[in-house]
Amino acid sequence: MTRCYNFCAGPAALPEAVLETARDEMLEWHGAGLSIMEMSHRSPEFVAVAERAEQSLRELLAIPEDYAVLFLQGGASTQFSAVPLNLLAGKNKADYVNTGQWSKKAIAEGLRYCQVNVAASSEESKFSTIPAQDTWQLSDDAAYLHYTPNETIGGVEYAWIPQVDVPLVADMSSTILSRPIEVSEFGAIYAGAQKNIGPAGLTLVIVRRDLLGAADTKCPAMLNWETAADNDSMYNTPPTFALYLAGLVFDWLLDQGGLSAMEQLNRRKAGKLYAAIDNSGFYANPVELASRSLMNVPFTLADAGLDKLFLQEAEAAGLLNLKGHRSVGGMRASIYNAVSEGAVDALIAFMQDFEQRNG
Ligand code: PMP
Repeated sequence: MTRCYNFCAGPAALPEAVLETARDEMLEWHGAGLSIMEMSHRSPEFVAVAERAEQSLRELLAIPEDYAVLFLQGGASTQFSAVPLNLLAGKNKADYVNTGQWSKKAIAEGLRYCQVNVAASSEESKFSTIPAQDTWQLSDDAAYLHYTPNETIGGVEYAWIPQVDVPLVADMSSTILSRPIEVSEFGAIYAGAQKNIGPAGLTLVIVRRDLLGAADTKCPAMLNWETAADNDSMYNTPPTFALYLAGLVFDWLLDQGGLSAMEQLNRRKAGKLYAAIDNSGFYANPVELASRSLMNVPFTLADAGLDKLFLQEAEAAGLLNLKGHRSVGGMRASIYNAVSEGAVDALIAFMQDFEQRNG
């Protein structure tokens, strides 16, 4: 059995070393006589695993003490509702920036709870740009501003952090842990785990503590960030295996040299792949240069009629999950932390060979 190179947008590749550790510990965790999956979430052993995961994440992202780290369920999509429910705090309006499919979903969900002011949108450019902040129409009575730093489908990413007077809320699902971030610039950050954090089923929220405590009275307990913070993310049974595995990923990232080292590697990987696309005349990426994603690289072939053959041959060559999102077509290579430089090199070599034979 050979492991292939996996370019899936999520659930995505996990570090092989992490999978090996999980395999070795699967039947019996550290002499406890049972699997981590079979252990009470309130046992001292599991509580230590959860605490260590949080500590490692705090170290990786240099999360300040006045921020709570919450490990939740329901995916990033559940946070589309949790954000207004926790942060409107009696107000009736929020600002959102629309840069693609995931922004749109957050906006649609926000509209259930308040007036949404779309402060800027790049829809006219088919989501191939990020609107400069000096063009944004911010409202003066918004409870928060929500944006999507990296659009997983369009492959468009902010190279800068918006500066606003209200709490800044970021859906970091497909960018978190790809490089260092200044957490103190944000009111709240959230992310589904299944890209750079760990397996699906776990959702991360990082929120400034002074924003807790103002949730809508109708906010379900399971969506209330204060409830989660007060209960160390164990108001109910957490997804214990996913949390354990995320902890292994965090420790693996620390072993790799932390997020500065990951950023260097990720920039090298993305730089090579974009260069191969731009230098080809056969492949194309539609995103403006300054806003190209480090993690999700969409590209088209000069002849869409060759898409099927490209995907078939890529799969035969051990390069999996390169099909673009169903809403945009073409190809997409997601090159998260666990996708090695060797995987990117193999993809580029395949693309060049395919072009020579079909271009
Ligand atoms: N936001 C972004 C940026 C995403 O990429 C995704 C998933 N691909 C989501 C939200 C939705 O995440 P989930 O499936 O965890 O609800």
